[in-house]
Amino acid sequence: MRDETTRRKVLVTGGAGFLGSHLCERLLRDGHEVLCVDNFITGSRRNVEHLLGSPQFELQRHDVALPLQVEADRIYNLACPASPPHYQHDPVQTLKTSVLGALHLLDQARRLNARIFQASTSEVYGDPLVHPQPESYWGHVNPVGLRSCYDEGKRCAETLFMDHHRQWNVDVRIGRIFNTYGPRMHPGDGRVVSNFIVQALRGEPITIYGKGEQTRSFCYVDDLVESFVRYMEAPGPLPGPINLGNPREFTILQLAEQVINLTNSRSQLVFRPLPADDPQQRRPDITQAKDKLGWEPTVQLRDGLVRTIEYFDALLREGS
Ligand code: NAD
Ligand code: UDP
Repeated sequence: MRDETTRRKVLVTGGAGFLGSHLCERLLRDGHEVLCVDNFITGSRRNVEHLLGSPQFELQRHDVALPLQVEADRIYNLACPASPPHYQHDPVQTLKTSVLGALHLLDQARRLNARIFQASTSEVYGDPLVHPQPESYWGHVNPVGLRSCYDEGKRCAETLFMDHHRQWNVDVRIGRIFNTYGPRMHPGDGRVVSNFIVQALRGEPITIYGKGEQTRSFCYVDDLVESFVRYMEAPGPLPGPINLGNPREFTILQLAEQVINLTNSRSQLVFRPLPADDPQQRRPDITQAKDKLGWEPTVQLRDGLVRTIEYFDALLREGS
């Protein structure tokens, strides 16, 4: 248990989602008080059920697109659906969540003199023309495409964070998160790692969009949460943005092969059309994270996939 000088009151928005639930767990383990705010649009109570017994943990249903009043000295703003089918389901709500959510939470940070972390994304680079992507790259985003509710919402949120920093000296931290995977991803959220594992475990065809030659760099959730905490607690000011992700790059076909091998699945590959504006390549340049946070990922894709497969295997058995 921490003493009062080092124990913090931490607000985690989107705390009942995939990344948020792991972050809440970590913060409680570190001895902090955690207020989790979520509207459960893609997250669930179940993700944080095991934390509800802790007197240091509180769960509140709230939509961050609406104003809120909290007490906190650290704010992690993770609220926003992250998988393309989810964020495209109600694009206007996705934009409201990113933009109005950022405004309301920055208001609170300013009022409370609290430090605030924004879960931004590699999607701010769009379909990048520079590879790998350093933070100095301004991106290549279609402002009117199907993904723009997410990409432009997150870009606008970054602007709001930087302007609050410049105008009112709010202590902001902007983390640009690259594809992350692990236990508690939603089995039906349509993201590539969860789709492939669920398909392989069920012996169903593995759906490759396009030729499968597009690349992504996959970070295991524990590594990413470590980067959040290091970034939040690094001496400031350190507004960033800072890329947070794993620089090892794989094609989607390579990922499919790994999943099939690790699950001993007899699933076949099937090829489906590539969704509109799907980025061809993505890999973070993490020089800044290494230099400024002393952080780099440690979990190999194979090991992370094994842990994620175990989780989905147990989940599917429960459901069958
Ligand atoms: P997730 O969908 O599992 O979690 C998002 C959480 O936010 C859910 O619990 C959802 O119910 C909640 N939420 C959504 N809209 C809300 C609103 N208006 N008010 C309150 N709560 C709301 O997604 P995730 O993968 O855990 O992503 C968390 C954050 O990290 C998101 O901001 C996402 O954009 C960002 N991010 C994630 C990845 C990744 O690979 N997982 C990559 C880049 C950025
Ligand atoms: N993808 C795929 N099959 C699937 C789901 C996704 O081939 O069943 C591809 C998708 O087209 C993209 C990549 O995998 O090129 C990563 O998709 P995801 O939705 O996980 O993340 P994002 O596109 O946001 O990086």
